[in-house]
Amino acid sequence: MSKDLVKKLVIDSGALRVAARWQGKGVALLMYHSVSDNPNSQQDTLGGIAHSTLVFRGQMEVIAREFNPITIEDLFLFLKGQRDLPSRPVVVTFDDGYADNYHLASPILEQFGIPGVFYVTVDCVERQMPPWPAQLRFAFLTSGKTGWADPDQRRWSLATREDKIRAFERASEFCGKLSGSPQSDFIAHIYSDLAIEPVRNRPSLMMSWDQVRGLLRAGHTVGSHTMTHPNMAHVGEQDARREFLESKRCLERQLGEPAVHFSYPCPALQPHWREATVRLSREIGYKTAVTANGGLVRAHHEPLCLRRIRPTKQVAGLRWNLACTFAGRVV
Ligand SMILES: [Zn+2]
Repeated sequence: MSKDLVKKLVIDSGALRVAARWQGKGVALLMYHSVSDNPNSQQDTLGGIAHSTLVFRGQMEVIAREFNPITIEDLFLFLKGQRDLPSRPVVVTFDDGYADNYHLASPILEQFGIPGVFYVTVDCVERQMPPWPAQLRFAFLTSGKTGWADPDQRRWSLATREDKIRAFERASEFCGKLSGSPQSDFIAHIYSDLAIEPVRNRPSLMMSWDQVRGLLRAGHTVGSHTMTHPNMAHVGEQDARREFLESKRCLERQLGEPAVHFSYPCPALQPHWREATVRLSREIGYKTAVTANGGLVRAHHEPLCLRRIRPTKQVAGLRWNLACTFAGRVV
């Protein structure tokens, strides 16, 4: 019997649902980034973060049929002890603010009646530029240079694609600690070192404000994913405060309603949030914040550092992972 068939039989038997009841109520937050008809076409910018439209549709169908999609507000009220939730509740979230969230993901969510949460990198929407990891990745992967010296003057070969990815990851360790103009200066410097033309306005990669407002009108929630996508645990307090506050203000100006949900970017370095950032986010007025730490959210968890699950790239895989997670295994 194949492994997949065994998994299917275990799920269908209901044994995992019985196990889930013993674990108490937990909520699964899924962390998506991008949905694409052809994810391979974005390898030089987004890498492997896109789900194919076909798989995403299949995964949403499973969630609508076998689980219970809820809003982030439902989750917040549950954590406050003010709302009960259906069994096996799921929140679908998107990070970064790519245009495909509006064009491809949102219509599928609406088709299945699933409310999404879209965390937008505000400066990237303003400037119509992808978040810095995509800019850096593009520079390293398309450069014709044979080597690169990092800020510590260590030399990195750019001979093969693997070399280029290693150098990109090294550069990301430096860039993740930068916010605002030091970050854009660092990127400009790398584009010059690698003899790449700056990525000018790659149209349609990021959502416009009109599209972000369209998500709200369709019944979804929009939250902040910072201004410039730094690692919030590795920037100074002033920078962290600005990233939390400016993005909140800008979203509220653009959307005409309070922006109270936040998502921590998780580039390059660990950790990507700290107790100090949790305190700061509370002081600035956020109600919830999601991280990239895995596992279910439980009733006693802090709303300002919520766990999320990275969905696999297969429909059956997600069904299995969710069933096991609700039964008590950390994915
Ligand atoms: Zn991000």
